[in-house]
Amino acid sequence: MSDRDDDFQSTNDHWEKEFLTQDSSYIGVPGKRYRCPKCSGLLLSKKGKNGAFWGCENYPSCDYTANDEEGRPVRAKKYFCPVCNSPLKRKSYKGNTFWGCVNYPECKVTLEDVEGRPASTKKYPCRACGHYLIRKKGPKGYFWGCIKYPECRHSLDDYNGLPVPRKTRR
Ligand SMILES: [Zn+2]
Ligand SMILES: [Zn+2]
Ligand SMILES: [Zn+2]
Repeated sequence: MSDRDDDFQSTNDHWEKEFLTQDSSYIGVPGKRYRCPKCSGLLLSKKGKNGAFWGCENYPSCDYTANDEEGRPVRAKKYFCPVCNSPLKRKSYKGNTFWGCVNYPECKVTLEDVEGRPASTKKYPCRACGHYLIRKKGPKGYFWGCIKYPECRHSLDDYNGLPVPRKTRR
């Protein structure tokens, strides 16, 4: 074994040994290990496009990631599907990041990603069917479509992130 900092070794054996043989000068040295809550692997500090984050050593078989806050992994907040209340998962498709319901394809809810969070899940009622509208991105830009699409095709234009109410007939 070298005298180098062997942070990258990760067997439990090694960890225990290190713990037993460490002298007091070792205590307090940063280098705390964080466990992946999903698979109990070690979390590794990584550099991404948007700065540091934590990823599981078992990536890609485990896709757990956490945000980095002052060198510590911070558990990503959980967000829930506005329709079926299942967790939302952050996904990437063709360079677009968005949030999708884990119940896909039964539940087709997707929400835009805004700085790592799903876009507002504020509910706007759908006048046509009593369900509600979510903001979507279409070929012509944003609009609000019914959560029940394609069963309900009611939609409204988007203005600054809010649905524009249809003019009521006089
Ligand atoms: Zn993991
Ligand atoms: Zn859902
Ligand atoms: Zn509707």
